[in-house]
Amino acid sequence: EEHLLSEGGPAEREVLPGDYQFSQSPEYLKLRSSLKLAESAGLTNPYFTQHEGVTNDRTVIGGKEYINWCSYNYLAMSGEPDVQEATRDSVDRYGTSVSASRLVSGEKPLHRELEQAIAGFLGVEDAIVMVGGHATNESVIGHMYGPGDLILHDALSHNSIVQGCKLSGATRRAFAHNDAGACEELLKRYRGEYRQVLIVVEGVYSMDGDFSPLPEFVRLKKEHKAYLMVDEAHSLGTMGPTGRGMSEHFGVDPREVDLWMGTMSKSLGSCGGYIAACREIIEYLKYTAPGFVFSVGLSPANAASALASLKLVKEKPERVDRLRHNSELFLKLAKKAGLNTGMSAGTPIVPVIIGNSLQSLELSQRLFADGINVQPIMYPAVEESAARLRFFITSSHTDEQIHKTVDSLAKHWKQLHRKSG
Ligand code: PMP
Repeated sequence: EEHLLSEGGPAEREVLPGDYQFSQSPEYLKLRSSLKLAESAGLTNPYFTQHEGVTNDRTVIGGKEYINWCSYNYLAMSGEPDVQEATRDSVDRYGTSVSASRLVSGEKPLHRELEQAIAGFLGVEDAIVMVGGHATNESVIGHMYGPGDLILHDALSHNSIVQGCKLSGATRRAFAHNDAGACEELLKRYRGEYRQVLIVVEGVYSMDGDFSPLPEFVRLKKEHKAYLMVDEAHSLGTMGPTGRGMSEHFGVDPREVDLWMGTMSKSLGSCGGYIAACREIIEYLKYTAPGFVFSVGLSPANAASALASLKLVKEKPERVDRLRHNSELFLKLAKKAGLNTGMSAGTPIVPVIIGNSLQSLELSQRLFADGINVQPIMYPAVEESAARLRFFITSSHTDEQIHKTVDSLAKHWKQLHRKSG
């Protein structure tokens, strides 16, 4: 495997005897060889592509415009003039950083306004915002649960949830995807052995575009005296008639979920995470959650853009309707063309399962040549047999873009299939 390294890395560097050489570590060699696999098949590296402007239904790469399916700018809030203006105003007023943890001296009026707007939108008592969505899951799960507790989570949980569970030191068990019955079995078997039990599910699942059966988990959490946490990274602004997420979709009282988690990086055109919950949980987190207490407050620009986006979602729920129309149209056309859309269920995430990493990459490159940008999802992000293209749909896509994309996709997929089969 020597040649893998001599090509890419700074091989000329003098190595002192006894120095630890990261370039020779199994971790680095493993990464290098997986990157090499695509290169040796004559395909371009699909990662870290530079997008030269705002990414919504379109994007500019290398000076050329593409129809874009790679951004979770679901409601086209990033790039929206009203949001940009509110963001600029916040920078004029407060600067570019709050320059301290909120607990000590980083608090700005924008922070509480945003938290109260999130809580009000979701129909719960209060909320806390943190600088990252990933950090929110990791920090809050890691902090609220510990040894002697049990965390039950969906088998397809996002990395941030799994990392939070590991950090907590609680016992962690995954149940089969979206299978409340399997979760119930675990509760019956183990509930008695633990002090606190947390069940974690997501609203919409980011690889498959399906969603969890929330009412069943609400029933379980009540029957077995467990906490229920729902990660709404991909369901806030996308699910429910007015974008209020899974509680609105199912007509579940939002107060029946203990911890609503979400991110501001998707439907809210910003960056950061939140927990929305009862007053006491939020108060506890604000004084004790490590990722909040020992981290800088959300920047004025991020707080202002999320707040302005949330106001727009409330004022213009038509965007949510448009997103739903686009998602349903895409799914309908893809199915009609005979493509395998897996478990996708009318959400703005539509996977097209190819079942082969290199073919997924090649398909994405053929689409790119047709002016269409879509990300391949390859092993090890998913199992090899589940390698896919993943389409993120936004409210700003047009019917024409959807038709053109599915036509091109179906054409190339058939050609590839013929070639390989
Ligand atoms: N939860 C889920 C389900 C996610 O998909 C993501 C990221 N895409 C996160 C949490 C982390 O959010 P962020 O990217 O805003 O840090």
